[in-house]
Amino acid sequence: MSASAEHVDSWYLRTANPMTDCPALEGEVRADVAVLGAGYTGLTAALHLAERGYKVVVLEAKRVGWGASGRNGGQICTGYNQSVETIGGWVGRDDARKLWDLAEEARRLLIDTVNRHGIGCGLTLGYLYGGMKPRHLDDLKAMQAEWQALGREGVELLDQGQMRARIGSPRYTSGLYDPDGGHLHPLNYALGLADACRAAGVTIHENSPVTAVETGASPSLATVGGRVRADALVLGGNALIDRLVPGLVPGLASTIAPVGTYIAATERLGRARMRAVLTDDVAVCDMNFVLNYYRRTPDDRLLFGARVSYSGRDPADLQQQMRRSMLKTFPQLADVRFDQVWGGLVDITVNRLPHLGRIGQTCYFAQGFSGQGVTLTGIAGRVIAEAIAGQAERFDLFARIPHRVFPGGPLRTPTLMLAMLWYRLRDLL
Ligand SMILES: Cc1cc2nc3c(=O)[nH]c(=O)nc-3n(C[C@H](O)[C@H](O)[C@H](O)COP(=O)(O)OP(=O)(O)OC[C@H]3O[C@@H](n4cnc5c(N)ncnc54)[C@H](O)[C@@H]3O)c2cc1C
Repeated sequence: MSASAEHVDSWYLRTANPMTDCPALEGEVRADVAVLGAGYTGLTAALHLAERGYKVVVLEAKRVGWGASGRNGGQICTGYNQSVETIGGWVGRDDARKLWDLAEEARRLLIDTVNRHGIGCGLTLGYLYGGMKPRHLDDLKAMQAEWQALGREGVELLDQGQMRARIGSPRYTSGLYDPDGGHLHPLNYALGLADACRAAGVTIHENSPVTAVETGASPSLATVGGRVRADALVLGGNALIDRLVPGLVPGLASTIAPVGTYIAATERLGRARMRAVLTDDVAVCDMNFVLNYYRRTPDDRLLFGARVSYSGRDPADLQQQMRRSMLKTFPQLADVRFDQVWGGLVDITVNRLPHLGRIGQTCYFAQGFSGQGVTLTGIAGRVIAEAIAGQAERFDLFARIPHRVFPGGPLRTPTLMLAMLWYRLRDLL
């Protein structure tokens, strides 16, 4: 992972739309709302607030989209990582149903935002879940049945032959096609959100790490060179909040584990070879807990996501590990070179549902989207804006999801690694 303030070198960076440089904060300014972080969470909250007439200032430690938002798989998922039935066990059936509706709204909102603001991020619909084991078929059938019962149409269960016709891999024995999931260019989505924010009157300061958060009677975010005083604060630092400025907001990071995950962009495969690997322009992910996720690019590369690191360190032989993972699914790509391999920290909660909440009366946060932040951050931004405007029902619905803290202190990483080892073993069964 790049430690510099510039973006990590990725296929996304090489194909990014023009970026606007935003000056660092200098001196003291006043706003209605001060936002920490220019990832999707901070930017969508800022956009919704500005559209409601609030004066908003965003402080970003590095560049717009420097965190997970500018380097992720770009996959647009349906629902949550848990079934509505499971969520119902935690929050009750009625609230679980309302949360499903919010996830559906999140997907529509994402598409609407991209279209309304003319964001050129290659948004494409179509999503394939790949099953490799008998229990995956059971899981896919359960997903299909639940989604249909909740009113979704067009979700299609696929057998081995149908998967083989879509993906040039012998691994898949079952699949589920979701016409409403999809993919986009994540960095261009973030850059487009920032453009939309600026057009709506938001001020964005890059290279402005927040070094102090005051959540008391007079809320403010301070940097080395300045301070934003505001009536309300939004914290969108997510998995990076404790990494960039350790201990900035005590306790906030304890409900999320920053897990390293990686993506490789192959060299250009050419049209025919690319289509033999992946027939349709869909996003794919498999049904393992430690999953592979991939799609093709307009210039006929495979973007292949895999591997995880719970230690906070990138594997020393990352290229080889990524290659081994890709060849398990696509052995026919043994001669293919990677042009870029990059990683980032994904924001995992214990129950793999987003964590929204308040600190005191006027400081709001959203984090822990657990690999579904492309879709779910937008609705988080919208409900935060609603709550600041005095309509907190939908924000409070998210905030009622119970969250456990990861074991802390010096044992945090080893305990997490042990817990995750269990899931990896389960993937092998
Ligand atoms: C490799 C990878 C693949 C992924 N694939 C997918 C996928 O396919 N689909 C999906 O839905 N999700 C995926 N995710 C997760 C998704 O990217 C995140 O959930 C989402 O981007 C979170 O957005 P965010 O704005 O909350 O956080 P981020 O994008 O991480 O933004 C946080 C921002 O806050 C800034 N910040 C932190 N601390 C401070 C401070 N003290 N002062 C100022 N600024 C600060 C950071 O610099 C950063 O820019 C993936 C993540 C990774 C890393």
